[in-house]
Amino acid sequence: MAQIIQKNSITVEQNWQKELASGFTDPFSLLSYLNLDPTDFGSHAEARRLFPMRVPRFFASLMEKGNWQDPLLLQVLPSNQEFLTAPGYSQDPLAEHDTANPGLLHKYHSRVLLIVKGGCAVNCRYCFRRHFPYADNSLSNTELENNIAYIAEDPAIDEVILSGGDPLMAKDSKLATLAEKIAAIPHVKRLRIHTRLPVVMPSRLDASFYRWFAGLPVQRVLVLHINHANEVSTELAEKLAPLRQAGVTVLNQAVLLKGINDTADIQAQLNEKVFAAGIMPYYLHLLDKVQGAAHFDIDVEQAREIMAGVIKRLPGFMVPKLVTEIGGQPGKTPVDLRLYPQD
Ligand SMILES: *Cc1c(COP(=O)(O)O)cnc(C)c1O
Ligand code: SF4
Repeated sequence: MAQIIQKNSITVEQNWQKELASGFTDPFSLLSYLNLDPTDFGSHAEARRLFPMRVPRFFASLMEKGNWQDPLLLQVLPSNQEFLTAPGYSQDPLAEHDTANPGLLHKYHSRVLLIVKGGCAVNCRYCFRRHFPYADNSLSNTELENNIAYIAEDPAIDEVILSGGDPLMAKDSKLATLAEKIAAIPHVKRLRIHTRLPVVMPSRLDASFYRWFAGLPVQRVLVLHINHANEVSTELAEKLAPLRQAGVTVLNQAVLLKGINDTADIQAQLNEKVFAAGIMPYYLHLLDKVQGAAHFDIDVEQAREIMAGVIKRLPGFMVPKLVTEIGGQPGKTPVDLRLYPQD
């Protein structure tokens, strides 16, 4: 299975980078593309000052024209509700800003998260990292080397997660070198990538990505972020097929979002479609309480009720684990569903 990683094999600019550059950054152009009348939109556009708008054209093509309530559009369109402050909401809900090692988060015993690249292809308005200072920065090579040394020194770490921002915003040449070094650490068994990029732009899963990732001599896990059935495109499923054939485990994590995926029917459709595309449902996260995203929040009681409906509708293997993040816990905390009363 081991495949030789060809260093410096990527000399030409990859197509996905061109596609990335052509995305929507201006809400008025996106609205016009969707045949929506922008007359009353004015004040909402101001929310770009809080967090820029970014929407790849492919993702926009999955939206329904003429529908202000489109569940994909609502995730990315700036809103003046982002200016509201709500109690309990902070700039850094997971207390991730200060770490001794920039770009490395070691909160859970056996796995470490490496922030490879700050920015994303799509800016989700509910993102808990929307206030992160690193924004579009990449780590320097020295910082990456320090982080690899940290992993090499701790035998308890058996899994490395490439995260961001979105790690697939980095060039394959850089990722290949990094992954090769990580996979060479004897106690590392798994390399995981957390990314939304293939969902909003399936072209990212090109031959150049496959070349370094598919044959790595460790178990490979790709965790996507899909919140609604309409995000599961045939293009995405086609790009995942060869990766699955190469033994890559593909999982999905979603965030429970008000007005977007907050009913049992929508959740059931999402997880059925995810599974049909060869992706296993993994987590459904309660929203992290980040400043500017309170209008997306679903409280835990309502989340329990939705999950009770999902359990009724789907086989157990299609039901994601409902989790929340609580500081100081050994991992993500499952939300207990047992006491939900029968209807
Ligand atoms: C979510 C997270 C992980 C991964 O947790 P899993 O439950 O294994 O998916 C690892 N490190 C950090 C800092 C995280 O936030
Ligand atoms: S892709 Fe993930 S990290 Fe990037 S903006 Fe969306 S939620 Fe945040």
